[in-house]
Amino acid sequence: MAHWFPFPFNELAGAQKALLELEAQDDARADLPVPNPTKSFWLDSTPGVNPLAKEGSEGALTTDADVCIVGSGITGVSTAYHLSRLLQGSTNGPLRVVILEARDFCSGATGRNGGHLTSRAFVEFSDFEKLYGREEAIKSIAIEDYTVRRLVELIKADDVANDVDLISSEHVHLAFTNEELAYGKADFAAAKAAGLNLDHVQWMDAEEMQAKYGAAYPGVKWPGNNVWPLKLVTHLFQSSQKDESKLSMNLHTHTPVTAVSARSPESSDPFARRWSVRTARGTISCGYVVHATNAYASYLLPHLHGPRGIIPARGQIIAVRADVSAEELTKTSYGGNQGFEYWFPMPAKLSEGKTDQPLVIMGGGREATGPRYETYTTDDSTLNPVVGKGLREFLPHVFPTKYAKGREPEMEWSGIMGFTAIGDPFVGPIGERFEGQYISAGYSGHGMPRAFSCAEVVAQMIVASLLGSEWAPPEWLPKRYLTWEKR
Ligand SMILES: Cc1cc2nc3c(=O)[nH]c(=O)nc-3n(C[C@H](O)[C@H](O)[C@H](O)COP(=O)(O)OP(=O)(O)OC[C@H]3O[C@@H](n4cnc5c(N)ncnc54)[C@H](O)[C@@H]3O)c2cc1C
Repeated sequence: MAHWFPFPFNELAGAQKALLELEAQDDARADLPVPNPTKSFWLDSTPGVNPLAKEGSEGALTTDADVCIVGSGITGVSTAYHLSRLLQGSTNGPLRVVILEARDFCSGATGRNGGHLTSRAFVEFSDFEKLYGREEAIKSIAIEDYTVRRLVELIKADDVANDVDLISSEHVHLAFTNEELAYGKADFAAAKAAGLNLDHVQWMDAEEMQAKYGAAYPGVKWPGNNVWPLKLVTHLFQSSQKDESKLSMNLHTHTPVTAVSARSPESSDPFARRWSVRTARGTISCGYVVHATNAYASYLLPHLHGPRGIIPARGQIIAVRADVSAEELTKTSYGGNQGFEYWFPMPAKLSEGKTDQPLVIMGGGREATGPRYETYTTDDSTLNPVVGKGLREFLPHVFPTKYAKGREPEMEWSGIMGFTAIGDPFVGPIGERFEGQYISAGYSGHGMPRAFSCAEVVAQMIVASLLGSEWAPPEWLPKRYLTWEKR
């Protein structure tokens, strides 16, 4: 296979894992989000696309709430969405929810990502099975299938597919090395042996791939989706506000939370105001706190810094024009190099009408930066030129007839992911000294097919606590995601 390649091959994935397990540096605790992030396509290319950007940033701050959600990305907003749905049958008055966001609405990873909403289907199944057993391996896929299915159903039921730019099509994974191909086939075989229905998965050799997609590498495809993440989260926010008799919601953007401290001795009354959520604009008393801060979680929860917690890692993305028409590119999203690189051509209507040369969103390249993989930084105000160089070279190298060498991207931005050493999020209560505080964070660069349902779990737990009922785990939830399994 190819000799020269813009990025190191997948053997470095093991090195990243080792890095994530290294003892933490003294400065490993995350900072607050920086106030001046790079401009992303999703947030900044289209005037008016973020109507909630500055919502609640001025005027009086809410002083009291039942539930305080920190973070307005897909996790924070999905938590509010699920709370509103779960309370539909209840006879209680509205639950008072406040969302606090350090910057513009949805301006963290969700507003800066690759836009892929695709289940991993079978990828990494063998590792999951070896490490955690067959049942957990099956659930690792089940949660992603469930999340994607629920989100796509919700988008279609609300008739907003066009509004959120949902493209349901296919995801192709390219194997750049024989080793990667062998890993993929082993995962596929193991998943099949465990009883997963993989009829929708199709393998292709290099000739077929070349003929259909213009890349001379073997690959595999399964159904996949792309979406404009900010528009999806804005829709979820608006949906959760629909029934004000069940949930009353306030959003305060540009309001970083600087500390969460105990207000009074522990109380068994679920509506007791146990916590003070501090901001420079004032303090909010609340019963429950949800940390939907992903990469930034250890700023408010310092014990979650380093390898036993959530490690921030900077990702970088370009929006670059293809050299051929949308038709010649097909509505396909792609990944390769063990998922380090990912890209998809935007539909014509989002490419400023230029159907002859659509914009392509392409991310990855951290592995080109040497041993730290852009970890332990929360600075998304800057770009790494080494990553940028590889991103520019990648598509013309892999698809020589479809992308022009040397073409400059039209936009380039960075965003901060939250990694955990095992690649799975922390979902559930923070712990004994934090009664009423919950977290869902640490999706390790793969949050779109997980965050919505992890937020559902947190919302279920809060509702169970409010109603004095027992929380029962959904059948699709991997046990190891739960915070108490990680202690
Ligand atoms: C470059 C990049 C590419 C990616 N590509 C994909 C992809 O294609 N597919 C996929 O599945 N996943 C992808 N991901 C990962 C995915 O975007 C995340 O897993 C997901 O968006 C996490 O959502 P979240 O709501 O938990 O976190 P975020 O969206 O980061 O939201 C957290 C919010 O909390 C706010 N915040 C933090 N601390 C505080 C505080 N103290 N006070 C107030 N507010 C605070 C932040 O400003 C932020 O808005 C990518 C991520 C990046 C960065």
